Amino acid sequence: MVIVGAGFGGIAAVKVLARVPVEVTIVDQHNFHTFSPLLYQVATAGLASEDIAPNVRGIVQGDLNVEARMATVHGVDFEGHEVLVDRGVSIPYDYLILAAGAVSSDFNVPGVAEHAIPLKTLADATRLRSTVLRRFEETNTDPSLIDGGALTFVVAGGGPTGVELCGALAELFTRVLAKDFKNLDVGRAQVSLVERTGRLLGDFSPASQAEAKLELELRGVEVRLGVPIASVGPDKVELADGTVIPTRTTVWTAGVKANPLAGVLGLAQTERGEIMVNADLTVRGHPDVFVIGDLAAVQRPGARPDPQLAPVAMQAGRHVARSIERRTRGKPAKPFHYIDKGIMATIGRRSAVAELPLGIRFGGTLGWLSWLGLHLVFLIGFRNRVVVLVNWAWNYVKWDRGNRVILSDPD
Ligand SMILES: Cc1cc2nc3c(=O)[nH]c(=O)nc-3n(C[C@H](O)[C@H](O)[C@H](O)COP(=O)(O)OP(=O)(O)OC[C@H]3O[C@@H](n4cnc5c(N)ncnc54)[C@H](O)[C@@H]3O)c2cc1C
Repeated sequence: MVIVGAGFGGIAAVKVLARVPVEVTIVDQHNFHTFSPLLYQVATAGLASEDIAPNVRGIVQGDLNVEARMATVHGVDFEGHEVLVDRGVSIPYDYLILAAGAVSSDFNVPGVAEHAIPLKTLADATRLRSTVLRRFEETNTDPSLIDGGALTFVVAGGGPTGVELCGALAELFTRVLAKDFKNLDVGRAQVSLVERTGRLLGDFSPASQAEAKLELELRGVEVRLGVPIASVGPDKVELADGTVIPTRTTVWTAGVKANPLAGVLGLAQTERGEIMVNADLTVRGHPDVFVIGDLAAVQRPGARPDPQLAPVAMQAGRHVARSIERRTRGKPAKPFHYIDKGIMATIGRRSAVAELPLGIRFGGTLGWLSWLGLHLVFLIGFRNRVVVLVNWAWNYVKWDRGNRVILSDPD
């Protein structure tokens, strides 16, 4: 078995296959798994990168039938049953699970690729953290830069990532950096959230959407709804209604597309690039190839596509692993059905919205506590859980963000 991608889907699959008498290779371009729901906390200095990125070899260390490889996959020889990688020999397979996820998409908005920072990878998060902190250092040296937008931070996209990032940035500025920069008027720092549609958190109920907007505004975030970004420049963002926001920092959380690997495999794709798969997550014409998570689009006539969420990838990973186990015993694979257990987004300290099936909804402190608990449970590795819990407790009690480290070079 070969699994491409040690993300949510790949790791879920490997953990089931570790209990099956088969040989498994899991290959990823990085030597770590990225817990993306907490990327925004790395970007806002609440957590260190290592806290949310367990090492892949460490994850499978005790699984004797699993080998981890660090390599970038650039193709698949379906005839020869081999995965083509950028370093070392190709990896032969009997069954292949493609779980390479998604990448940030600029939706062809001019200037996004050149001037905006995405929030999709660990490198993006540390780059954003360094950029934010550097803006404060620069304006501390030369406060006249504030007029040119040096302390204005525009976040594109009002989905969970944009909302969570804006809330965390606002709290970082008012509660932490205001104390760090004693001679700077930190009150002039502004977070602006720009969302193309008329509402935040599009997949949530109107009550949660309204709560998120109110909570962000209470934290000083400027929420602009119903207006798309027309272009992004090095020192400004232009909106479609002609508004110009002077800023030197734009964060792009407005959308993703399938990993470009999908495009080189010669398989049928959707408009957004996902690989079309059968109900059992196999690829048409390739019964030994499965695609899961953000890379896959299950073709079910008349049904809504599965959302691009970690639980979907994890459930699909476990499902295909069990299917492979069944197939090795001569039994057919079963269709995959995503079981929706709810959605959540946090806005800031003691504020989150959570929606469960059957219309159950809660927000405020209860929503926030459930958000904290759930993310702690899903984080991989006992050490990471302890470190994150200690960090959260410290940050809560002390209003601190202990990872205010500038690492990357200026853009
Ligand atoms: C900032 C952010 C916040 C999010 N928050 C939430 C949330 O709160 N709740 C939620 O449910 N979902 C959230 N998501 C979505 C969730 O992260 C994805 O739906 C989920 O990661 C999809 O899992 P996956 O296994 O398909 O891909 P991923 O988890 O992205 O894993 C893909 C893996 O493939 C590897 N890879 C990619 N290309 C190659 C290649 N060519 N060769 C080798 N390896 C490769 C990558 O390095 C990566 O490790 C968030 C996403 C982002 C970006």
